Amino acid sequence: MPTLVSLPAFEDNYIWVLHDGQHAVAVDPGDPAPLIAFLDAQRLVLTTVLITHHHRDHTGGNTLLRQRFNCEIYAPENPRIPATTHILRGGDAVDIAQPPLHFDVIATPGHTLDHISYAGHGNLFCGDTVFGCGCGKLFEGNPGMMAASLDRILTLPDATRVCCAHEYTLSNIDFARTIDGHNPALLERQAKDRDARAHGRPTLPSTLALEKLTNPFLRFHDVDMTAFAANYLNQPHPGPAEVFGAIRAAKDAWDG
Ligand SMILES: [Zn+2]
Repeated sequence: MPTLVSLPAFEDNYIWVLHDGQHAVAVDPGDPAPLIAFLDAQRLVLTTVLITHHHRDHTGGNTLLRQRFNCEIYAPENPRIPATTHILRGGDAVDIAQPPLHFDVIATPGHTLDHISYAGHGNLFCGDTVFGCGCGKLFEGNPGMMAASLDRILTLPDATRVCCAHEYTLSNIDFARTIDGHNPALLERQAKDRDARAHGRPTLPSTLALEKLTNPFLRFHDVDMTAFAANYLNQPHPGPAEVFGAIRAAKDAWDG
């Protein structure tokens, strides 16, 4: 089994690294500095970068890392992503020799139109699609598109480690409580994750099982969330994409 590590970057990003003690893969290294410091300290060679979408806080390290390590850089097709060596689409697979890893590529548009996620070895690298108890803002896509992306993620095994690109969990839980305050799993998660942050630990990865129980943005098929959306939209029978859209709209209003 490869070792999974999260490296904090910028204010609240995580760069995820998988390595076998010799070679490493990094996901969304927007800032190359913390990644290079880790690789040097662990005497690891970076062979591969996986990019989920074009935002600079995910791609800002590409050019430097490519120059320094001559690493392969996998990314969705988007001219705004620098130094790409392999273009990926949903349904593609990534096979890496060192470390020996295989990922399935899932198209997850919504946050951006180019967004893809990588599933492999029990991990989901979902960039800005799913956050701990939350999801990415819809900068380019629409609610139906994002709900379809999340439906694909929901087909992964419950034990999947959900490796998100930002530490937003506590704030997302505060919002989730405003629409799902009686959910005991949510309250339990809040206590655990507050403790983790108080001790400087990440709240991630979570598991898909925990997100299914506590993340309102993955519960748009659920009766309680449907009731919330019916009330929020003043519409008797919202469909799943409308339920998702209502939760997203409520969160955007809550963010102010
Ligand atoms: Zn983004």
